[in-house]
Amino acid sequence: MITPAPTLVLRARHLLTLAGEGPAVGEQLFAPLKKLDNAALVVRDGLVAEVLQNGGAGLPAGAQVRDMGDVCIAPACVNAHTHLQLSHLEGRTVWRKGFARWLASLIPLLAEPVSRAAIDDACQSMAGVGTGLVGDIAGSLPDGFALARQACRETGLNARFFCEWFGFATPFPDEHNPWPPQCCKDIADNLELKTCCAPAGHALYSTAPEILRIAQSYCRKINSIFTFHLAESSEETRLLTNGDGPLRDLYEGIVLPENWRAPGLRPLAYAEELQLLGPGTLAVHGVQLNPQEIRRLAASGAALCLCPRSNYNLGLGDPPVNALLESGALLCLGTDGLTSNTDLDVRKEAVSLREEMDVPPEALVRLLTVNGAAALGIEGAGQLTPGCPAAFCVLPSSLVY
Ligand SMILES: [Zn+2]
Repeated sequence: MITPAPTLVLRARHLLTLAGEGPAVGEQLFAPLKKLDNAALVVRDGLVAEVLQNGGAGLPAGAQVRDMGDVCIAPACVNAHTHLQLSHLEGRTVWRKGFARWLASLIPLLAEPVSRAAIDDACQSMAGVGTGLVGDIAGSLPDGFALARQACRETGLNARFFCEWFGFATPFPDEHNPWPPQCCKDIADNLELKTCCAPAGHALYSTAPEILRIAQSYCRKINSIFTFHLAESSEETRLLTNGDGPLRDLYEGIVLPENWRAPGLRPLAYAEELQLLGPGTLAVHGVQLNPQEIRRLAASGAALCLCPRSNYNLGLGDPPVNALLESGALLCLGTDGLTSNTDLDVRKEAVSLREEMDVPPEALVRLLTVNGAAALGIEGAGQLTPGCPAAFCVLPSSLVY
């Protein structure tokens, strides 16, 4: 005889299921979200079986009931950009002094071995705050990718890994082998890794343009998201437009080849020239985008991941959030890694935008859920409806309306 799986009932004061919601842009972001009061989520085999409201009348007999109390439950949140492999470097980089100073403090630390314990802790803390899906930059430090993959699995985090190309002098990819060198080794050791990753680029100032293009076209071919850091700092803008500044001083002779010449374009224009933008591209940061560039980004169909606490911590200024929200671009949220943030709780990115820039909670809940899933190319995630995984987060009070 087969024993039926126990039924679990989660009760909460409020529940946002996001039923019927898809990725939202522009005005759709601000539409009211249907909130159920005194709701109950009936869970079987890890999936939502039923959603009950008004006190949860009609609970299945014999169900285990877990009362979450006076909170609002929403679908598990999506952290669309982080760097798990750098978790052991938490608290060791220079903050609030600009991008180049931060980067100069990070570079020597990259020689240190990654830490399994730090990656495990980072994943446990993400899962503990109700993160369900992660976009992780991987594939450049030895063991980083494999350990991040394992830790995500063990903590129940669904993850997409982006194997990052960096530099101008690395062996060139081709359409048969588009993986960065470290990632190539990782995949050779464990073929299964290939099922959850895609090649990616670091940034326009740090990765050869031909490599960015090959990686992007491969992603397009395998129907995966292509991601890279874009318009993060004023130092990046200066290096690409004028060819000088603190980032040039830092990278000269180390990363930039002797004959490197600035394209003479602002970051967005250079990304356009390289044809890196469009549906399926996830750009990260966008702090430096001006109003006209925001319109062009939105028109391209590319998504943008905002990491506002990371930007603040490094002293880079705020992303132009209100113009981005109105632009029609697909937006989502990420924490960036522990070298530029105090924790990997992506809900706090939303709280910072709520408190510092008065972004409406409806928009922030969508950025945290359905938009994050869409930006990572995961269909049907970010909802708590029958048949979906019963993965949820408790919304911070400032995001409840
Ligand atoms: Zn990053």
